[in-house]
Amino acid sequence: MTLCKYCNGLIVFGGSRDGELRFCNDTCRQSGVLLRNASQLPVDFVQRRTRAVHEGSCPRCEGVGPIDVHTAHRVWSALLATSWSSHPAISCRRCGLKRQAGSMLFSLGLGWWGIPWGIVWTPMQVIRNFIGMVKPPPRGVPSATLERLVAMDLARQQLEQEKSGAIPPVQPPLPPPTSPPGAS
Ligand SMILES: [Zn+2]
Ligand SMILES: [Zn+2]
Repeated sequence: MTLCKYCNGLIVFGGSRDGELRFCNDTCRQSGVLLRNASQLPVDFVQRRTRAVHEGSCPRCEGVGPIDVHTAHRVWSALLATSWSSHPAISCRRCGLKRQAGSMLFSLGLGWWGIPWGIVWTPMQVIRNFIGMVKPPPRGVPSATLERLVAMDLARQQLEQEKSGAIPPVQPPLPPPTSPPGAS
């Protein structure tokens, strides 16, 4: 068993591949591309941005920090089908707890009803939420996961800028030929 390179979700079988890297699904694989770009950003730039996010206010409730990554784990089943997933999100501890508790109840209610994976995954996801709730990232310093997500966000912005640069915007109308040269 390996862990998803992006979300740290457990991959029992299958998943999505990008060369040597394993991911739980295509969404995680696409994020993995960003991961590679992110690793090429200047380290001190990423660390500065990470600290700013960590000390900033919660993007969900606008409450006070520290802000870090809290991952909620879910599973649901329908007879022979079982679907499990992990959802990291940047928020304050309170919002993280709420999501994890919600996902725990969701999994407890809907996880069991699949054979055989529902029975395997339900306790697993419940325990992982529980661990996340009782053992949050340390308050003093941003976690490595937060730094990774912030770096990926910067990489995404960079990629979007490059994309918009590749297709130049509509040319502004030329100034009338009578305007004096160098006027600004
Ligand atoms: Zn994943
Ligand atoms: Zn919050």
